[in-house]
Amino acid sequence: MTTVLVWYRNDLRVADHPALHQALADGGAVVPVYIHAPDEQAPWSAGAASNWWLHQSLAALSDSLARLGSRLIIRRGDSAAELSSLIKESGATAVYWNRCYEPAPAARDRRIAQQLSDAGIHCRQHPAALLFEPGTVLNKTGEPYKVFTPFWRACQQRWSPPTPLSSPSALPAVADGLSCLSLTELDLLPRKAWYAGLHDIWQPGEAGAHQRLQSFCLSALALYPQWRDYPDRPGTSRLSPHLHFGEITPQQILWTLQDWAYRGETGGLTQATESLIRQLGWREFAHHILHHFPHTSDRPLNPRFGELLWRQDAQSLLHAWQLGRTGFPIIDAGMRQLWQTGWMHNRVRMIVASFLVKNCRIDWRQGARWFWETLVDADLANNSFNWQWAAGCGADAAPYFRIFNPMLQSKKFDPEGHYLRRWVPELVALPKRWIHQPWTAPRPVLDQAGIHLGADYPAPLLDIDQSRRDTLAVFRAHLGPHSAAEN
Ligand SMILES: Cc1cc2nc3c(=O)[nH]c(=O)nc-3n(C[C@H](O)[C@H](O)[C@H](O)COP(=O)(O)OP(=O)(O)OC[C@H]3O[C@@H](n4cnc5c(N)ncnc54)[C@H](O)[C@@H]3O)c2cc1C
Repeated sequence: MTTVLVWYRNDLRVADHPALHQALADGGAVVPVYIHAPDEQAPWSAGAASNWWLHQSLAALSDSLARLGSRLIIRRGDSAAELSSLIKESGATAVYWNRCYEPAPAARDRRIAQQLSDAGIHCRQHPAALLFEPGTVLNKTGEPYKVFTPFWRACQQRWSPPTPLSSPSALPAVADGLSCLSLTELDLLPRKAWYAGLHDIWQPGEAGAHQRLQSFCLSALALYPQWRDYPDRPGTSRLSPHLHFGEITPQQILWTLQDWAYRGETGGLTQATESLIRQLGWREFAHHILHHFPHTSDRPLNPRFGELLWRQDAQSLLHAWQLGRTGFPIIDAGMRQLWQTGWMHNRVRMIVASFLVKNCRIDWRQGARWFWETLVDADLANNSFNWQWAAGCGADAAPYFRIFNPMLQSKKFDPEGHYLRRWVPELVALPKRWIHQPWTAPRPVLDQAGIHLGADYPAPLLDIDQSRRDTLAVFRAHLGPHSAAEN
């Protein structure tokens, strides 16, 4: 009887899992294995919040596999070496896995596939994380798209998402005798229990992902286009960490959304579904960009955006931004939401990123690193792409002279100040007229709200208009002819 190892990575589910499905279809023994190898993702080994999620998600996967009669074998160390020893221990003749696309793991996978093939082990790599395989969506001259709209149009022209594979009803038992680490031995949970709040908000794992999708469809899908930009509303799906860890696939989301749209009686659901699918399109675009330009996790896509643009003397500003103590309520609210929940609303991510790179003139990579440590959905393709978008140096990026005004953004997208009061409780008693810029409130108003600026809550750490002018001057000086686009 043949034995197949199913090598789990960022695909922590049992349904719509082509590698597991294929192994089962082969009819022999199936050994699901997870190998913890953070060094193989360097320099982008998972941050603290991601490790918290990974711990929970592996626990959920182990339970699901056990319920189906199987067992997750957990190992740690060099993936090639661990696979080889598992092949010897189990007598496996094949290894199947679902592809991942980040540069370092993708290079590792190519190496391992070669080594295994040389040793006579059958390897199968399945596409499973994206709707379109990177490298298959190219423009007429065979080049990758660098602008989203034509990219997405090309995707839609070849639209044929496969029906998601259903969950197996049972799996063959894994033979005794294969050594397996306990989850705690992976040491994924941070020593300091700062993550207590995450438990209240998230349910990592496949079941949690599907519950979130269903409750989003039930309560917010129809209003997605109207609500998605308002951070105080439950307007977006919050599926990002589930997607990153592969607890749910974009195909499954697509089919569920289409099912809801089909069942809906009004045209509103169709529009909402399209709007959400378009967001999944941005995820595709970001992954394709990283595939074609693997340096963009660390260097700008547009090489004109060199080191000289960024301040080297802004350590205290960076620190205040990280802690949510800049004195700008919308920035501080976003950064505190991130710290306390491991997630931040997309609109606020754009505002805090613009503030960091364009008002503080701090290198976008410092922001990307902080997000990497603190986001439960930290994803190399999405994070790098969006930070480069904010800095103006990436694909389809915001032009460098487009600088969000945090106060105007705050008034527009949180007009009542609900989001600000939720995350910056110092300002809870401030009327909405002043809450977006407390330093403009008359002294009696501040006194009545019990706020002493500079003591209870910081005075703004910079002058927004002046910092905007300074940045534009530096960018113009370094980017030269690009500044013509301002006019
Ligand atoms: C500076 C910055 C950094 C970011 N870093 C990450 C990151 O590390 N990981 C991450 O998943 N997203 C990142 N994003 C994109 C976006 O903010 C999140 O995907 C979104 O907020 C997740 O919430 P949601 O699942 O409720 O989104 P929804 O609005 O419900 O969208 C559904 C899905 O579409 C995808 N999506 C939505 N917007 C984007 C986008 N702009 N780019 C790529 N995919 C998108 C996500 O997979 C998301 O789960 C970043 C955005 C910015 C501005």
